[in-house]
Amino acid sequence: MAEPAQLLVGNGLVITRESSAPLIENGCVAIRGGVIAAVGSTAELRRLNPGSDFLDARGGIIMPGLINAHTHLYSTLARGMALDTPAPRNFVEILERLWWRLDKTLTLDDVYWSAMAGLADSIRNGVTTIFDHHASPGAVRGSLGRIADAALQSGVRSCLCYEVSDRDGEQVAADGIAENREFLAGMARAGGNGLRGLFGMHASFTLSDRTLARCCDAAVESGAGFHVHTAEAASDTEDCLKRYNKRIVERWRDAGVLGKSSIAAHCVHVDEAETELLAESGTFVVHNPESNMSNAVGSAWVIEMMARGVRVGLGTDGYSADMLESMKVANLLQKHRTGDPGAGWVEPPQMLFENNAAMASECFGISLGKLAAGAAADLVILDYQPPTPVLPTNIDGHLLFGLAGRAVNTTIAGGRILMRGRELLSIDAAEMAANARATAQNLWRRI
Ligand SMILES: [Zn+2]
Repeated sequence: MAEPAQLLVGNGLVITRESSAPLIENGCVAIRGGVIAAVGSTAELRRLNPGSDFLDARGGIIMPGLINAHTHLYSTLARGMALDTPAPRNFVEILERLWWRLDKTLTLDDVYWSAMAGLADSIRNGVTTIFDHHASPGAVRGSLGRIADAALQSGVRSCLCYEVSDRDGEQVAADGIAENREFLAGMARAGGNGLRGLFGMHASFTLSDRTLARCCDAAVESGAGFHVHTAEAASDTEDCLKRYNKRIVERWRDAGVLGKSSIAAHCVHVDEAETELLAESGTFVVHNPESNMSNAVGSAWVIEMMARGVRVGLGTDGYSADMLESMKVANLLQKHRTGDPGAGWVEPPQMLFENNAAMASECFGISLGKLAAGAAADLVILDYQPPTPVLPTNIDGHLLFGLAGRAVNTTIAGGRILMRGRELLSIDAAEMAANARATAQNLWRRI
């Protein structure tokens, strides 16, 4: 007989999304050694595991932990920050007047508390895996290590990278390459199943051919894929056409950036031929609808990309930590973009629950985003008393219209309870908030 489970999470409506049993009424997940041992009925799993600890979902929803495929933990302390410059009127001005002023000012301690606050937000929204894209040009070396410290303490699986760019001169670009290289060689491997790395690059318009080639050489040596902003604004594409006489995805193809373990974030301004290249190469595209709308950079044609075989995942780009909200906005944006109220029902849940899961599973080398025996025990409980029946055919309707990150009551990753009854267990919430506020106040003064 198999060893008993260490923890049962039961008395809930289990949403597996598996075709065999997408919903289990009064369901339960049995966890052993950080992995899901079984998924079934509460009565059955309690009978089979009489001595196990039992976490009562009290009739709420039990579903896989959420995955954020593109975010920036360094942006967390910008919440509520006021700037003394005129309001930015385009994407490059947003970078110059807000994000590049902020990231240049960050010290390693700022990076740490910003990461901790962002990770706490993630846990509160049921996010158990993130793909972070980091910049702190004034404190490049050691920055990924500080984020990794926060990530391991928080228990949120984190795939990290440093975004190399030429915008702060040659030395900072060289430091960025070295930071990626060192992290990939050391920490990313030492962090077990909780930590991974990619080779980070900022975007086409901030990367010379020389720096791009250096990044590619270093990434090949490290055996890592890339995480890079791609065609986020039309100005990025125009710059690429003007300087290199090709479109951005073509530039990536020629340099060797595309591939199954690479992430091209945004892809708002890609054409048919670029879409073909993304599909052929298996590159992951990550859609960030709220950020795209907030920056007024346009609406990605993600539905068409997916129809052509591109693997499109979903992120927040640091706009929020709430993946259910991001899915909701993805749904709305596709309707708005196409003028078709029937658009966007199928693809956003597919991005969040299938493609993000595939991306994270490939990256971390363990089955993530699934409630099935053998998958990592990453799951969440949401408080929910639906006014209408939840059926295998209308799960997405309930997720879209009835739920949001704030409904998450309990977050578990690798079998470790990170939050229970809205109380953070892996992070001291009061200490974190006090440190983050003091850090933010000091940071805002220096900016
Ligand atoms: Zn981004």
